[in-house]
Amino acid sequence: MNRDSYQAMLAAVQAFHDKHDFRNTGGEELVYRVALMAEELGEIAACVTKGKDRDKLAEECADLFILLIGTAISADFDLNRAFWDKMEKIMQRESKMVDGRIRVSEFRD
Ligand SMILES: [Mg+2]
Repeated sequence: MNRDSYQAMLAAVQAFHDKHDFRNTGGEELVYRVALMAEELGEIAACVTKGKDRDKLAEECADLFILLIGTAISADFDLNRAFWDKMEKIMQRESKMVDGRIRVSEFRD
């Protein structure tokens, strides 16, 4: 299996869900999954604020990525297609500097 493909990652996360029967044990409930994703985002933040090394940051980003793929499984949407649709959109957007940092957004107000 090509480990660089989204299909391979999706299959691996599906196998993880199947192994622990997430579908029938609450592991695919969206409110719970949002809490888990927030928890992992906090761990990513802690890596930065506590000066952890890059390997630890990569591990925490992987945790969040696995949860995102699992959320796509749980909510039954195509994250690969959503990713490419969104990339196409944001590549068309303007950027501007806000408080010394670049921001890419629709800037409607
Ligand atoms: Mg973690």
